[in-house]
Amino acid sequence: MTMSKILSDKTYDVVVVGGGIVGLASAYAAFKKGLSVAVVERQSQNKDASVRNFGFVTVSGQRRGEHWQRAMHSRNIWAEIAPKAGIQVEHIGLHMLMQRPEAVDVAHAFLKTEMGEGCRLLTQSEINEAAPYLNKGEGVLYSPHELRVESNTAIAKLAHWLQETQSVDFYNHTTVTSVELPKVHTSRGVLNAEHCVVCPGADFTGLYPEVLAKTKAKICTLNMMRVMPKKAFRLNAAVMSDLSFARYDGFAQLPEATVLKTLLDDIQSAERQAGVHLIVVQSEDGSLIIGDSHDYSDRELPFRDTRIDDLIINEFKQVMDIGEIDITQHWLGVYPSADEVVFKTSPEKGVVVGAVTSGTGASTGFAFGEELIELVLESK
Ligand SMILES: Cc1cc2nc3c(=O)[nH]c(=O)nc-3n(C[C@H](O)[C@H](O)[C@H](O)COP(=O)(O)OP(=O)(O)OC[C@H]3O[C@@H](n4cnc5c(N)ncnc54)[C@H](O)[C@@H]3O)c2cc1C
Repeated sequence: MTMSKILSDKTYDVVVVGGGIVGLASAYAAFKKGLSVAVVERQSQNKDASVRNFGFVTVSGQRRGEHWQRAMHSRNIWAEIAPKAGIQVEHIGLHMLMQRPEAVDVAHAFLKTEMGEGCRLLTQSEINEAAPYLNKGEGVLYSPHELRVESNTAIAKLAHWLQETQSVDFYNHTTVTSVELPKVHTSRGVLNAEHCVVCPGADFTGLYPEVLAKTKAKICTLNMMRVMPKKAFRLNAAVMSDLSFARYDGFAQLPEATVLKTLLDDIQSAERQAGVHLIVVQSEDGSLIIGDSHDYSDRELPFRDTRIDDLIINEFKQVMDIGEIDITQHWLGVYPSADEVVFKTSPEKGVVVGAVTSGTGASTGFAFGEELIELVLESK
């Protein structure tokens, strides 16, 4: 029997564990249903995957079918609430430089699918106009759907907006230690709840470890960096390249991608082995976030391998020419990675555990949060 003081005498319809994007999206989905909601976050505010990512809300490239639809729906929610929450959309859309003819074949195949709607190949004059900083290649696939937000501040702004205007209560610096509905036990006392949604990110050893173990997820570690161009320039849309056609499920799982993947395994074997592909996005101050790599060894690497950064910088220079750059920040990030893109289950009545297991939560979190709330309401 846990003897704890009561943190609040309110009984919430839903207590959400975790203040990352999935937890905040769940809180928003619950609020929209007219439910009373609290978010419990053990840090002062999220400092994990949700702020270490690119803030790149990606639609084209997400796994075909349900997950692509999650991304499209989530993108629309980002677009709707960003202005209300004071979150600036830094740029819209995506330019994928096709460096080799094999990538053009993948782009053509993609455009023939339902995912290609609204996307197109740019003419040379459009490339000159819209993306003069791209190196010469075989063309550019344009997708209009993508949004870029500054995660580092957007997550805090989203939490603040939920608190101030959507009546969501936040308990930060508070760790949930166990759930025994109607009690949610925390490091600071008890909260009362009808339902509890657990969104622990990559922490699979805290709450419900045996349930999360069913995902067979491994910790994936990513190298990221921020660079400042020496000469001012403005990025008109996010940038990706051939390595992304070979990596993102929405392209890479098309049969036409096999030739490109085999070719890149041969000619860019170091990048392919390190899971390197290129994403470039820009911040308001002109700096660029560039990345990333994927180490699936499940090791939670404490130290950054700078040779991986060199691969990323090298790919950046193959794709874009913006003159000299200074690297101003390096960091590592982690997320759980499994064959399934998301995991959600109800281990007991009124409780749901959910995690994005594909490193796509910035893009799909709002839709996934709605699913978690649906599931928890059904579970009682
Ligand atoms: C480097 C990097 C780049 C990425 N790039 C992209 C991208 O371009 N596009 C994209 O869509 N996605 C991207 N992702 C993936 C995306 O960031 C994640 O899928 C998403 O942030 C997961 O959100 P989350 O809320 O589940 O997890 P997290 O952000 O990890 O949040 C979980 C929160 O739960 C809290 N918590 C856990 N247990 C407890 C407890 N017991 N009590 C209280 N609090 C608890 C933690 O403190 C944490 O704040 C990237 C990820 C990384 C690491």
